Amino acid sequence: MKIKRLELSGFKSFVDRTVVNFDHAIMGIVGPNGCGKSNIVDAIRWCMGEQSAKHLRGKSMEDVIFNGSESRTPADFAEVTLTFENDDPTDVPIEYKDYAEIAVTRRLHRTGDSEYLINKTPVRLKDITDLFLGTGVGTKAYSIVEQGKIGLIVSAKPEDRRLLIEEAAGITKFKSRKKQAERKMELTQQNLLRVGDIVAEIE
Ligand code: ATP
Repeated sequence: MKIKRLELSGFKSFVDRTVVNFDHAIMGIVGPNGCGKSNIVDAIRWCMGEQSAKHLRGKSMEDVIFNGSESRTPADFAEVTLTFENDDPTDVPIEYKDYAEIAVTRRLHRTGDSEYLINKTPVRLKDITDLFLGTGVGTKAYSIVEQGKIGLIVSAKPEDRRLLIEEAAGITKFKSRKKQAERKMELTQQNLLRVGDIVAEIE
């Protein structure tokens, strides 16, 4: 999955709607200190489902909403949309394989209400996580390599390094689906036991 476009509105310093087109294989974001370069990376991470305010350099999640300036009142909500080119439909869940583009939106209101959308349809956070599983994209994947990350990988425990290799090999999504299937089987087993008890009582 390749990022095509990033749209921000009310997110951190980007109070007005801002569109960043990723038209080239390599792009650089340059600007003076404090102009918002890292906020762009934060926006990508947030839209992919980041749940830790600390990882977004804030104290609470509300800190991602534009908090006002001398000339502007604070925004009521923050919204970020990341549009991906669906270049390998085998990468994504079956319901999205026919789309040329996949747009993921996250919105957070100051009231605390939050929404996730895929191609403008409301979804759960889990749907966003599932969409990215095995693609290398996602909050815990290797698509964002921040300062110090290479050092961390080099010095990581073999088991932790293995998780990265599994993600790159596309195994993570199968491991996650296996876990879900095992959980369902366990629940079914418990239900069967209960049914058995009820049948025994009736007999
Ligand atoms: P540097 O080159 O120093 O690393 P940078 O270009 O990466 O800087 P950022 O860290 O992305 O800059 O942006 C910092 C700016 O974003 C600060 O001016 C800060 O006030 C502003 N900012 C952060 N959160 C908010 C918010 N919720 N509302 C308004 N502005 C915000």
